[in-house]
Amino acid sequence: MNLSVPDELIARKMAKIADGVGLLRVEHIILGMGRHPIGFIRDGDEEEFIEKLYSDLKIVVDAFYPKIVYIRTLDAPTDEFRNMKGGEDEPYEHNPMLGWRGIRRGLDQPELLRAEFRTIKRLVEENYTNIGVMLPLVHHPDQISEAKAVATEVGLIPHKDIKFGIMVETPASAIIIEDMIKKGLDFISFGTNDLTQYTLALDRNNERVAKYFTEKHPAVLKLIKDVIVACNKHGVETSICGQAGSDPEVVKKLVGYGITSVSANPDAVLKVRETVARAEQQLILDAARRNK
Ligand code: PEP
Ligand code: MG
Repeated sequence: MNLSVPDELIARKMAKIADGVGLLRVEHIILGMGRHPIGFIRDGDEEEFIEKLYSDLKIVVDAFYPKIVYIRTLDAPTDEFRNMKGGEDEPYEHNPMLGWRGIRRGLDQPELLRAEFRTIKRLVEENYTNIGVMLPLVHHPDQISEAKAVATEVGLIPHKDIKFGIMVETPASAIIIEDMIKKGLDFISFGTNDLTQYTLALDRNNERVAKYFTEKHPAVLKLIKDVIVACNKHGVETSICGQAGSDPEVVKKLVGYGITSVSANPDAVLKVRETVARAEQQLILDAARRNK
């Protein structure tokens, strides 16, 4: 399931229902701190930032242990940061969705990425062996090497007890998925909200074009299918954490393409689990009939 609020009661309840967390958005925790993350670091309060992030992440990884939790590094567009204390210096961007967000920002401000990786390393060292770290909005294989270099610098990798992966949410990353895989990935997860936005050239925040927004567009589905096939060929796990993972119609197709897991919103978990089971039974039946 996708989990946005690190609330202990909710996390413990959901850990009984779901097989893991396919998306834990770090920005929800960071935006909730009420102070711009760069402000912490610039003012010499990096340890305070790490402590806050650590205690919230720990709630979820502990509640779900030993089930996997994919933690996604910071991905907040500049307009969301601007309203925070210390966010006055955020640049004004004409289209924040095409702007300074995701891993591109993380690599431009490695001090922040480093702090996030240090936090995750602390959890791994406490024997939380159920963590996957996931990079958002990757559009070039070099971004994976650069992020890995930062993770290596703080000692997060190589570590046998952590999985490393990327979100596939730009057409670029889908089209050259083989080159992405060559950089060393344990898993990928489809961010279909962004993948649809960028494939169809539709700003997901623009209500005028919202009627055209659909993950079921053949171009989006083709990218997804191609990526799953390539990942299966190379033993890379595939998942989805965009809204489409809560849509039974899409999920049925994904199972047919060979996706290895699906992450849904909390209120859709049971329905999606049922959809996956039914789609898998159908695949088994079809195969058995073919082999008769
Ligand atoms: C997505 O793009 O599908 C996704 C899960 O990331 P976000 O919605 O946070 O951009
Ligand atoms: Mg996204």
